[in-house]
Amino acid sequence: MTRLRLLPPSRVPSLLSNLSPISSVIRLAPLSCLAFLLAACAFAQDQPKLVKINDAISMVKTSGNVYVVNTPEGSVIIDTAIAEMAPEAKALLSPAVRGPVKYIILTHGHADHIGGISLWQETGTQVIAQRNHYEFVNYVSRLEGFFAPRNAAAFRRPPKPPGPWAGNYGARVEATIMFDEKYEFTLGGVQFQMFSTPGETPDHLTVWIPAYKAAFIGDNYSGIGVPEPNSFPNLYAIRGTKPRWALDWIKSLDTVLELKPDIVLNGHGDPIFGNAEVTRRLKRYRDAIQYVHDETVKGMNAGKDVYTLMQQIKLPASYDLTEAFGKVSWSVRGIYDGYAGFYDMNPSTMFELPPSSIYPDLVKLAGAEAVVKLAQEKIAAGKLIEALHLTDVVLATDPKNPDALNARIKALELLRDKSENYVETGWLEYGIDKAKLQLKPAP
Ligand SMILES: [Zn+2]
Repeated sequence: MTRLRLLPPSRVPSLLSNLSPISSVIRLAPLSCLAFLLAACAFAQDQPKLVKINDAISMVKTSGNVYVVNTPEGSVIIDTAIAEMAPEAKALLSPAVRGPVKYIILTHGHADHIGGISLWQETGTQVIAQRNHYEFVNYVSRLEGFFAPRNAAAFRRPPKPPGPWAGNYGARVEATIMFDEKYEFTLGGVQFQMFSTPGETPDHLTVWIPAYKAAFIGDNYSGIGVPEPNSFPNLYAIRGTKPRWALDWIKSLDTVLELKPDIVLNGHGDPIFGNAEVTRRLKRYRDAIQYVHDETVKGMNAGKDVYTLMQQIKLPASYDLTEAFGKVSWSVRGIYDGYAGFYDMNPSTMFELPPSSIYPDLVKLAGAEAVVKLAQEKIAAGKLIEALHLTDVVLATDPKNPDALNARIKALELLRDKSENYVETGWLEYGIDKAKLQLKPAP
């Protein structure tokens, strides 16, 4: 098995996507992040390029993909890439754009899809989004100060203080047309239908062009791991996001399947051609989400706690999905907490003092050396997470305890070395860096 240290470039900006809407991304995107993206691209030799799908549709495969659909009366752009990649995407796609840009359609409000809107806008260009787009971009903007350090950690870049709070509804919203369930228009004799298909975000939409039996579905199907096997999605992204509602996502995939597309065009990665292949892949993905959701709900109804279910629920091998991007255990917790919130029926946990408030007392009783020794024994026995918890206990009293920090680094490195999920790997490396920084003497 190969350990993934670098994020596949096709997904990196998607992971950035809770950062903020376009304007903030431009402001926040640091050079180190861009360098990291470029390093990731170089690693996978996945340079942006123009790809012709049929006589009317072309794409630039980048982060995320940008599409043009040409008609005799003008062109429609679907998604616009992340701001850093958008100028290159436009330069590559422009030779395939045969008319004035009449519409820009946003499959969703993640930053890697809305970063190049202004590059494509002409006089009279309409920008179409699903109605939840408004709240989604405001949600990201509203919590920018909360997301900023998490994104800095997740994407291994120096933290940068966010700007002044923009307020609850301070995001820049560029859509000029927003719809609830369905919207359609005809341009140059070509009919475009848009359906609300919430999934990775609540504002996801699917663009359906009946003439080409083509469905543009944004990030509701994970393009990473193409060719197969694909990864299970993140029903909850641990960098911080609202849980992504599994039942909505399932229904949205059903909506796409009912259209019987011959081509599915994704926000990342390659298109899927042929209805049999589309059906096989999307149905398997849909069924896997349903399995994890239903097992979680069954466990909740049976009175099981979230940690038990995180340990017990495993995706059956028949789904043939990896956990390189989405992790089933995080998704279980996302579903559980999404339905139930924080309280676990234990009166100890409903008050404002956390368990860590008594860690210094435990260290006083046992002695820091004994706790560290126990952590080292846990590491030797392969019980790495327990070792981490023990170092938490010591470091709550003495944040610079070198033996506890060294034990912690060892446990984190061993966890990283066996991780098969690159989001998890990134957070483990973040923890290693932080512990190493703690080891350094104060300047
Ligand atoms: Zn994306």
